Amino acid sequence: MNIHEYQAKGLLRDYQIPVGAGQIILNSRDADQAAAALQGPLWVVKAQIHAGGRGKGHFIEEAAGAGGGVRLARSASEAAQIARQMLDNTLVTVQTGPKGRKVGRVYLEAGADIARELYLALLIDRKTSRISFVCSTEGGVDIEHVAATTPEKVITIAVDPATGFQQWHGRAIAFALELSGAQIKECVALTGNLYRAFTERDMEMLEINPLIVTPAGHLHCLDAKVGFDNNALYRHPEIAALRDEAEEDEKELAASKFDLNYITLDGSIGCMVNGAGLAMATMDIIKLYGSAPANFLDVGGGASKEKVTEAFKIITSDPNVQGILVNIFGGIMRCDIIADGIIAAVREVGLQVPLVVRLEGTNVEIGKDIIRNSGLNVIPADDLADAAQKIVAAVKDATHKAAEA
Ligand code: GDP
Ligand code: MG
Repeated sequence: MNIHEYQAKGLLRDYQIPVGAGQIILNSRDADQAAAALQGPLWVVKAQIHAGGRGKGHFIEEAAGAGGGVRLARSASEAAQIARQMLDNTLVTVQTGPKGRKVGRVYLEAGADIARELYLALLIDRKTSRISFVCSTEGGVDIEHVAATTPEKVITIAVDPATGFQQWHGRAIAFALELSGAQIKECVALTGNLYRAFTERDMEMLEINPLIVTPAGHLHCLDAKVGFDNNALYRHPEIAALRDEAEEDEKELAASKFDLNYITLDGSIGCMVNGAGLAMATMDIIKLYGSAPANFLDVGGGASKEKVTEAFKIITSDPNVQGILVNIFGGIMRCDIIADGIIAAVREVGLQVPLVVRLEGTNVEIGKDIIRNSGLNVIPADDLADAAQKIVAAVKDATHKAAEA
């Protein structure tokens, strides 16, 4: 689960990590009061969306004024004015895709002056299975670009779980960030506190970009991005409460309410599969035959008719879906029950795109009969490769016909 920048900064503040004073605005009516509560001479107005690259982004609506999702103001009234412009308008960044994201919250912050912009993050390195600091002197800009073009400028320092964070980690990071004098001590304290926040709150990612050095020589966090381990959220009800459903994919949200493991992807073939391993294999084989999955979906072992119907509704609500592949192994579930569920779902939600169904396991022949005799335009398949080839071909065929018509 991800949270907003202002929420992340609130958490970091509790760990004595240097972040600015700020005010969150949910309603334009509150903009003036919020801006007046902050000390000038510089205000920063920041659109709160769960996507990076806000500074370089742009708004779709003209009413949002010129500039991206992070703008500087020289007076409280100017800051309030910008906040009102941003609220309820749509910000497009490299991470939102062309449709952008509606801005429902704007954060006002007392602006800082910048001498240097650095990059500092904590994440779980899958290769070493260790919490690692990632740092670079090239902060502020797109870190992916720095990593791709000048990888030597991105330095990773892993923490051994047996010792936990040690002061030398902090000094190594200070050295990598080319800090000097009293900044080294500040860096040791800062990185120690970040590590404590990361582990105590079960974070998956904590990114400060930029971490700045102020003209007076102090370290200060200008931006904060935090993601949590969903499997540990039950331990942190105060963090679970920070969830902003408006930021989540509608389809994923609907799926979570029906206990379906669903993730939106950007391909064109909708998948309905039982079991995470089989779902992964199905996605792989769709790719092997030259197309791409529109989603990952594991309906689970005991998929009921209702669950299958919901899953179908979610898949068909995705405008990118040009074909659907159902791949079910009836082990605990019987194939005839699955077949009934599929037929009922298709009858209820309709079918505008080709559907290939591959069933295997208990009562498979009865299941296939049900599908064959349903009168619906369902393409049966015998095994995984056959199913993948058939759906890829059917989608190609349908697009050809559409192009000719
Ligand atoms: P992002 O674009 O979504 O990563 O948003 P950031 O919070 O990182 O802001 C983008 C850029 O705006 C930063 O890299 C800074 O250059 C600039 N910026 C943000 N806050 C301040 C501030 O308090 N003072 C100044 N001078 N610039 C700021
Ligand atoms: Mg940033």
